[in-house]
Amino acid sequence: MKKDTLIVTTGRDPEANHGVVNPPVYHASTILHPTVAAMEAAQRPDYTGTRYGRRGTPTTFALEEAVAALEGGYRSVATGSGLAAIVATLFAFLESGDHLLMVDSVYGPSRRTCETFLKKFGVQTTYYDPTIGAGIADLIRDDTRLVFTEAPGSLTFEMQDIPAIAEAAHARGVVVAMDNSWASPLFFDPFRHGVDVSIQAATKYIVGHSDAMLGVITANETHFGTVQQAAHSLGAAPGPDDVYLGLRGLRTLGVRLPRHQENGIRLATWLQGRPEVARILHPALPDDPGHALWKRDFTGACGLFGVLLHPRPKAAVDAMLDGLDLFGMGASWGGYESLILPVHPEKIRTARPWTEPGPLLRIHAGLEDVADLIADLEAGFARLAAAA
Ligand SMILES: *Cc1c(COP(=O)(O)O)cnc(C)c1O
Repeated sequence: MKKDTLIVTTGRDPEANHGVVNPPVYHASTILHPTVAAMEAAQRPDYTGTRYGRRGTPTTFALEEAVAALEGGYRSVATGSGLAAIVATLFAFLESGDHLLMVDSVYGPSRRTCETFLKKFGVQTTYYDPTIGAGIADLIRDDTRLVFTEAPGSLTFEMQDIPAIAEAAHARGVVVAMDNSWASPLFFDPFRHGVDVSIQAATKYIVGHSDAMLGVITANETHFGTVQQAAHSLGAAPGPDDVYLGLRGLRTLGVRLPRHQENGIRLATWLQGRPEVARILHPALPDDPGHALWKRDFTGACGLFGVLLHPRPKAAVDAMLDGLDLFGMGASWGGYESLILPVHPEKIRTARPWTEPGPLLRIHAGLEDVADLIADLEAGFARLAAAA
């Protein structure tokens, strides 16, 4: 089945729910077992039913089934946030004395986990240039257990050659994980490109309406047990209402994301022609350094991209942003509404330092009429000029 059909059909069983179209929300902690034998059966590792609220209910299982089908993995496990999914994945494969290869353009809080928990627990992290490709082989050591990827990178949008990295890692028996939130399950097939474990910050496009926190880890058959055990041990289970919102959001992913893509590309193209703009960071644009990889491996782009301005005083950029009507300022992205945020990769990068002199903005193109969004930015540039 094609993805648009899977989005609508997977993780649903109306016959089991009185004909109701959507899976019901099960609120649960205790799960009752009628006999000792039934209780013992529920404790076996291969048991897939309900056992305890933290381990999921039929609502959770429906979301997990749907995301696993869309990502093309073996099975999925849901978590209480995207970050919980990332932390569980790191904890699943790393122990004291191990070495991690982490992409330098990784989502900031993922990096913080390496600098805090992993460091404290004796795991060494080497950050690598996101554009390293097959060159990752030179950084793999005997104690390397995991290569963590994210494409395009958070804030700076570098593409990664995932198949080349996976090939080099697998040649040394190293597991490959990917934060696949930017593409969502719709626009990149991680398992067909060599990834072993894929992470979705479902908070973003799967929920899609800025109203729930949710993560999903999907793994291949070899690694699913390890990942599921880590996620359950972490105890960061999602709440049933948030899982329901994830399932509900998922059903329209196939129509929302192409519109985010279209608005994003139209905004990016318009911005490219502005004299205030030095460069657009968006792999779907033909002159982006990551375009060839994006075109080879991805089937689309979401609405999130970067805008590098020519150097301007902070007060002028603040004046531009403060007066915007349609672009909200705030963390996260993937909802129906447009967002804009000044970002500072120069503060965190080490392997491939960010040295651009001008201010960097991150835009999330929402589902508004793009002409209104352009008019809002145009007025913002007028305020920038007046204040500069
Ligand atoms: C937001 C984000 C996350 C974290 O997701 P939360 O649900 O907010 O914890 C992870 N990875 C990327 C790339 C993100 O943008």
